[in-house]
Amino acid sequence: AKSAIVIGSGIAGIASAIRLVNRGYTVSVFEANSYPGGKLSEISLGEYRFDAGPSLFTLPHLVDELFELSGLNPKDYFEYVQLDETCRYFYADGSRLTAWYDKEKLASEFEEQLGEPRKNILAALDNSTLLYKHLAPLFLEKSLNKVSTWLSPDALSAYGKLNRFDFNRTMNQANQKRFDNPKTAQLFNRYATYNGSDPYQTPATLNIIPHLEFGIGAYFPKGGMHAITNSLYSLALDLGVNFYFDTKVQKIVVHKGAAKGIDTNMGFHKADKVVCNMDMVAAYKSLLKDQHQPKRLLNQPKSSSALIFYWGIKKEFKQLGLHNIFFSEDYKTEFQHIFKKGSIYKDPTVYVNITSVHNASDAPEGCQNWFTMINVPNNQGQDWDYLIQYAKKAIIKKLSKELGEDIEPLIEVEDILDPRLIEAKTSSVAGALYGNSSNNKFSAFLRHPNFSKRIKDLYFCGGSVHPGGGIPLCLSSAKLVDELMN
Ligand code: FAD
Repeated sequence: AKSAIVIGSGIAGIASAIRLVNRGYTVSVFEANSYPGGKLSEISLGEYRFDAGPSLFTLPHLVDELFELSGLNPKDYFEYVQLDETCRYFYADGSRLTAWYDKEKLASEFEEQLGEPRKNILAALDNSTLLYKHLAPLFLEKSLNKVSTWLSPDALSAYGKLNRFDFNRTMNQANQKRFDNPKTAQLFNRYATYNGSDPYQTPATLNIIPHLEFGIGAYFPKGGMHAITNSLYSLALDLGVNFYFDTKVQKIVVHKGAAKGIDTNMGFHKADKVVCNMDMVAAYKSLLKDQHQPKRLLNQPKSSSALIFYWGIKKEFKQLGLHNIFFSEDYKTEFQHIFKKGSIYKDPTVYVNITSVHNASDAPEGCQNWFTMINVPNNQGQDWDYLIQYAKKAIIKKLSKELGEDIEPLIEVEDILDPRLIEAKTSSVAGALYGNSSNNKFSAFLRHPNFSKRIKDLYFCGGSVHPGGGIPLCLSSAKLVDELMN
């Protein structure tokens, strides 16, 4: 039988393995960690459980699809609910807003809470849907680097509407113009962070992102985000994929211009095809260091990273939902700190994700598991030990003020994830969450392709390559690898 090796068991690596085993390949996955899932893993602290990385789940059909193509009913393995309420927003001046999935309800909420005319919200969502309708088939569902992509009917219809795609102004410029209240613009600017970008630099084209939440929906997997990894890992095992954990790949072996297999500390492993799920930049620098280096892509600025405090809180705050955002009073200065100064602003926007709201067993009774996160620059050698303490004080001060209670004494258990650790745990260069940043229009849409242009039989999937970071795009990358290979 044909054989394939997958380097890394991130979500895209597992999805690629499932697709290839379904194509009749014998598939082996080599993973440096002792567990599958990469960034999509979980941690436990005493009686508290936390999803370690991603917390927002969109485009669930991309997970379902993997069960369906294996001839199984996804519902037997993986369940999720659609959220009526996508996020609760808290502004420093005391304004509050609940983002509802229902568009009419959402528009009314903006009008009541922020005085934003309903029509502005509905128009913004229509714009987002339009962007998605034209750009998804072109950029997300096809391999950019195939000439046929550019000549397809989708592409041709897109060219005619290029200026509607808003490549030539920033997301913030578009949102300031669209909305009456700067607080509404701030909320819509936040979507740039969904791929680690800066709304004051990234093209307005990324206003495509709200469509995922409001057009298609936000979901919560039963058992938490980690259920995505668990269910796909079990599926891969059932289909006969071989997993080798604690096995770091050292080299992709190339002979006469084609990938022939990999080297690990156990020696050479041969395969007809090699799929790399490791961060693309890290892979070129370590596994492919004797090969041609795509310098332009390797040197592009990286996306932002995150600083997370996993806190077991011995109290239940009923005013908090699953997703909560406490906005900075000065968003622009916050992003300047992240992307220009490489530092942390004194009043950061704080995201609190509480899975125990839906999954009661994630915290003891009367308590909550707070995944408390701020966006931070990627690792450029900052004094993180200092920055972590600085950020912790700022976060506690902000949350205590907004919740009207000192939260510090309520923190029962704590663990911390910072950019250095993200890099150490997943090999993501500089701890960037989403590979190269999308801060300019070329980097946003021209990422490394899902195959190697120079080395035959070598493919790439995951958040650092086309079409981009985040679970749905990672799953799409696996689909593209499968299409390119077969
Ligand atoms: P990764 O998860 O990066 O895994 C790569 C794997 O390869 C790792 O397991 C690593 O150990 C292994 N590996 C690397 N090098 C080697 C080697 N040499 N040999 C063997 N194995 C190797 N996305 C969303 O959709 N929604 C969110 O809300 C969201 N929030 C996020 C919050 C945080 C804090 C983080 C960290 C990420 C978040 N993301 C979110 C992004 C999302 O987690 C990632 O885009 C996605 O999980 C990346 O998957 P991947 O397949 O690229 O692989």
